[in-house]
Amino acid sequence: MAEYKMLIDGELVGAASGETFATHNPATGEKIADVPKADRSDAERAIAAARRAFDEGPWPRKSGKERADTLRAIAQLIADNSAELSEIESRDGGGTIRKAMLADIPGAQSAFEWFAQMAETQPDRIDLEGSPFPASNNYVLFEPLGVCTGIIPWNFPFIMASWKIAPALAAGNTSVLKPASFTSLSALRLAELIAEADLLPPGVLNVISGPGGTVGEELAANPMVDKTAFTGSTEVGRRIMQLASGTVKPVTLELGGKSANIVLDDADLDQAAGGVLWGTFMHGGQVCESGTRALVQRGIYDEFVNLLAERAAAINLGDQLDMNTDLGPLIDRSQVETVERYVALGREEVGEPIVGGAHPEDLAAGLDPNAFYRPTIFAGVDNQARIAQEEIFGPVLCVIPFDTDDEAIAIANDSIYGLAGGVQSGNLERAESMASRMRTGTVWINDYHLIDPKRPFGGYKQSGIGRELGTQGYDIYRQAKHVHVNPETSGRDNHFHYSLLSGNI
Ligand code: NAP
Ligand code: MG
Repeated sequence: MAEYKMLIDGELVGAASGETFATHNPATGEKIADVPKADRSDAERAIAAARRAFDEGPWPRKSGKERADTLRAIAQLIADNSAELSEIESRDGGGTIRKAMLADIPGAQSAFEWFAQMAETQPDRIDLEGSPFPASNNYVLFEPLGVCTGIIPWNFPFIMASWKIAPALAAGNTSVLKPASFTSLSALRLAELIAEADLLPPGVLNVISGPGGTVGEELAANPMVDKTAFTGSTEVGRRIMQLASGTVKPVTLELGGKSANIVLDDADLDQAAGGVLWGTFMHGGQVCESGTRALVQRGIYDEFVNLLAERAAAINLGDQLDMNTDLGPLIDRSQVETVERYVALGREEVGEPIVGGAHPEDLAAGLDPNAFYRPTIFAGVDNQARIAQEEIFGPVLCVIPFDTDDEAIAIANDSIYGLAGGVQSGNLERAESMASRMRTGTVWINDYHLIDPKRPFGGYKQSGIGRELGTQGYDIYRQAKHVHVNPETSGRDNHFHYSLLSGNI
């Protein structure tokens, strides 16, 4: 069994207490590895190392070009080890090997490449023209924030690790990352690869595994930390804000969602059905921006719902490590129980689902049926139903009928969340007009789930604060400092403020 260590201050180490915890393959329950169980003292050690590396080390003082070269070397390391990383990611988190190979590992690689480009091309000084004050030179310096911590969820462990590490390091910060306890392995393996290749000075990157309630809280609260970036549930996001407020740290929050995927009556129904099914059931719906509310226009409603049911029933569940599997297990029995509770609630609120609503019965031997849940669709749902308002984070789609475009927009926006959404339509002008009225951070027209590091990603309303990726996702890792230079170095009368005070100072 592979041994996993944490990275603290350039060393691969266990928890100071010597404690570990097990991580499992959710499809079978089989134990994969023991990982170090950090506590607050390990978190404090990692933060102190990151602080020293920032205050005294070479990393923040390197040029953008030098940092870009290192980030590209990390991207190359990911590419060189993609087969191993894909297997770890898929086995530990239950996502299909296809997703790991085609999206997770290359997606993380491209995040490092994008932020390398940011480090190289974004200016760290802008000279300002036209001062209103006489005889002064003014410029803005863009500086790293300092020690940045990242706390990430289990649904996309490797990509989420890259979204926290790459922008922080690109801008000259140092970083402490805590992966989710269900899925620590790929982030720990990345840290090990970086350490073995000796790509970073000690303390610039630290990766620690351990419980959110202690290690995560320390990363958000510790006064030596300058910024915390969190991806996870809205409930824990609120807690992160509270903890960070103690030292008025900036936070980036990427939280939950209940996104609407609007199907207009001019859509190609076959293409739209693909868009809705992919938009909902990819990774079993364990995706924050999933389009879990399909808003379908009345004229095509019956035909479209039948098409959805037929195609959802054909989705193939199985071993996530098999290249032919469409859907693997959910992350954990507790997540399956959450789905079961919501499906029971849906039966009360709406009636029998038109497809799914049960565990699969035809899995290969060795796979635990209770770890899997069939794609489930409730039709004729009222947007006020709890299953349409609350994030389930599982393979459950609510289909909601509407008559007019205005009504669709009102339903789409009637949510505490605002992470993403979709419009499926044959008329791009109509679709773009609707996109402009949706209060969400991303809208996909005739597509879904396509995220690229060049484009900002984040939420309106209770889906979060700030944007990751894009140029915006680089700017949030830098301070802007204004420097005003009065070139006159002597002579009492050249100070502008003399004209504001009448006195003789
Ligand atoms: P979670 O329970 O909020 O956990 C996320 C991370 O926070 C984990 O690393 C967890 O550690 C840690 N944590 C838990 N309690 C904490 C605390 N009191 N203080 C500090 N850290 C704490 O979320 P999850 O169940 O892993 O992920 C599912 C949720 O994430 C969904 O709501 C989903 O919508 C959201 N999500 C959002 C995005 C986005 O980009 N907007 C992306 C992915 C997921 P442990 O693992 O040790 O508990
Ligand atoms: Mg696991």
